[in-house]
Amino acid sequence: MVRIRGVHKRFDKVEVLRGVDLDVQPNTTTCLLGPSGSGKTTLLRCINHLERVDAGQIFVDGHQVGYTARGGKLHEQSDKEIAAARRRTGMVFQQFNLFPHRTALENVMEGPVRVLRQDKHEARTRATQLLEQVGLGERMHHYPTNLSGGQQQRVGIARALAMDPKVLLFDEPTSALDPELVGEVLDVIRCLDGRTMIIVTHEIGFARECADTIVFMDGGSVLEQGSPQDVLNNPKSPRTENFLRRVL
Ligand code: ADP
Repeated sequence: MVRIRGVHKRFDKVEVLRGVDLDVQPNTTTCLLGPSGSGKTTLLRCINHLERVDAGQIFVDGHQVGYTARGGKLHEQSDKEIAAARRRTGMVFQQFNLFPHRTALENVMEGPVRVLRQDKHEARTRATQLLEQVGLGERMHHYPTNLSGGQQQRVGIARALAMDPKVLLFDEPTSALDPELVGEVLDVIRCLDGRTMIIVTHEIGFARECADTIVFMDGGSVLEQGSPQDVLNNPKSPRTENFLRRVL
């Protein structure tokens, strides 16, 4: 579902991604682990085309991010084409990024109505179902300021699901939350099992339990990947071992 080949990305003088290769199979959960600054968020943002790669290719569901095939040739996408292609991925942000002046329901309806041009009634029905699915049926008319961080993040997840993306990308979805609110968000993500998900997280216990594949990044490269058992219990690289020793 996601194929990444030789991706490089630099911000000014700093090379943040140094030739990343990664494959994500459909309907699997991949957890990206690694020290702060290792390039995990940047990689997610490149998959979503919030950042542009300097070299290499990323494919989502067979489509190369940033390019459209026309007349047998690849063309760089226009802003409109980028926006359309971005629908293949749904992003859940660390800081929720909800519209503050819209209710939970309106936040979830926004994308389907404005971007997908769905009928309002249809979008409302679907948004209501999704908010019920994340346990917020009773609070769908609340504004973000009247919701806890955990509830806001659950709205963020419902909002991503409303666009029916091929891949869900989670950028440290619980790191802005008070510890007692982390569990409710992880429970919701756990229930999405069966979708294709890439999750940047520091929650090693969650990764051990839910990931099909764990990818360990350091210094802008993928150092190791495999099953939780392989990567967490028998790391091959000393850097992975060192990281795990510090966080476990
Ligand atoms: P991680 O998610 O593993 O903590 P990031 O991808 O957030 O790592 O960041 C990797 C490096 O890239 C960091 O050194 C960070 O400061 C730098 N970086 C990220 N985004 C930008 C940006 N927009 N401009 C300049 N530097 C950035």
